Amino acid sequence: MTARPEDYAPALDHAVAHTLAWLSSLPDRPVRPRADADELAAAFGGPLPDGPTDAAEVVDELARRAEPGLMAMPSGRFFGWVIGGTLPAALAADWLVSAWDQNATLRYATPAVAAIEEAAARWVLDLLGLPGHADVGFVTGATMANFTGLAAGRQHVLAEAGWDLDTLGLTGAPRVRVIAGAERHATLDQALRYLGLGAPTLVPADGEGRIRLDALADELARGAGPAILCLQAGNIHSGAYDDIGAACALARQHGAWVHVDGAFGLWAAASPATRHLLSGHELADSWATDAHKTLNVPYDCGIVVVARPAALRAAMGTQASYLVRAEAGPADPQDKVPELSRRARSVPVWAALRSLGRTGVADLVDRLTRHARALADGIGAIEGATIRNDVVFTQVCATFGDDARTREVTARLLADGTAWMSGSRWQDRDVLRVSVSNWSTDDADVAASIEAVRRAAAR
Ligand SMILES: *Cc1c(COP(=O)(O)O)cnc(C)c1O
Repeated sequence: MTARPEDYAPALDHAVAHTLAWLSSLPDRPVRPRADADELAAAFGGPLPDGPTDAAEVVDELARRAEPGLMAMPSGRFFGWVIGGTLPAALAADWLVSAWDQNATLRYATPAVAAIEEAAARWVLDLLGLPGHADVGFVTGATMANFTGLAAGRQHVLAEAGWDLDTLGLTGAPRVRVIAGAERHATLDQALRYLGLGAPTLVPADGEGRIRLDALADELARGAGPAILCLQAGNIHSGAYDDIGAACALARQHGAWVHVDGAFGLWAAASPATRHLLSGHELADSWATDAHKTLNVPYDCGIVVVARPAALRAAMGTQASYLVRAEAGPADPQDKVPELSRRARSVPVWAALRSLGRTGVADLVDRLTRHARALADGIGAIEGATIRNDVVFTQVCATFGDDARTREVTARLLADGTAWMSGSRWQDRDVLRVSVSNWSTDDADVAASIEAVRRAAAR
């Protein structure tokens, strides 16, 4: 029996109603959740029921029980970590992805989503100023995009060194030198660990968290053999960009593969106003970014771009007799990502880009940057507050005197509930960290959030 629409309609209708109720609660609800995970565990726990429950009832129960434990991450006043919201077209497209239920693995088997993926990939390369011949893989997030780009790099530099990685593995292989800036993102180390490449050699960073080029030149000169250089486009505290063009030129002299972690920052390339931050970034070999941050598609969606498709396909391609492949032509989606079976997560990317257009993406990036500057100006004007970074993109770090005082202001701000900004530690200080990543943040959100910080900082 084939599933009938009436099997789905009640549950879907209820899901739409709960979705709209959630979205309409965002302007007024506190940004922070009202209940913690332990309390929620009690609401969802208990023994597995013996018998079935009606699908619409399950949806109602989920929505009702989850509600107190939901963080208003899609709120325009959520500035924690680096968390994008969800554009309307992207959310609706994500629902279609679930309804279509395509396993986005093989071009011939799921042609619609393969074609959508290829179109989205071309748009992303175009917007981000990356080489048109590069391969694009849609992965779960920037952690996996870093992993995938670095896997291609590992494959390439070891092949260049004459080592057959696929047959022999890493044991006994020439050591791959991996070099990164001191302020690389923690997930880069995680990706290197997955790859058996160990901890990177760290090059000191400057006061904004950028890799120091003089120290990088020294480090590159210290060794020989296969090497990978990891650069960053967008520091999570300052938003600062490594000088990618200059660092690529240094890396070239040593035959190093260059990987750029631009989880949120790569999107600066989509606006004429911020493109200069990435100058020379097209000279790298691989790039990682997220669509679920700056582009505002639902979780989970990251993008890896590799300028040497052969290295990526050698690292990630699957060969199995039952996966009948096209004889020639473009690669299958599965050749560019770690997974075999996978969600068609490029579809919301296509929808987001289609709904915004080129100028819409540039406007989105410009708006985020403008709001970040306004928040920095507003918070910086509060008595006792100091903005610690040069606000070049979407990230702001503030202190309010000593560490204890900054932590106190952060805690009071979160308890107030008007806005959410993460506490963090940067360059040996506790900081209040702001990330403007949500498409829906407007001037009123910015003003209300500055007022909330002012209240939290009042003695
Ligand atoms: C968020 C982030 C990551 C990790 O991305 P996920 O999507 O959370 O896996 C890596 N690098 C930077 C700079 C980030 O901001």
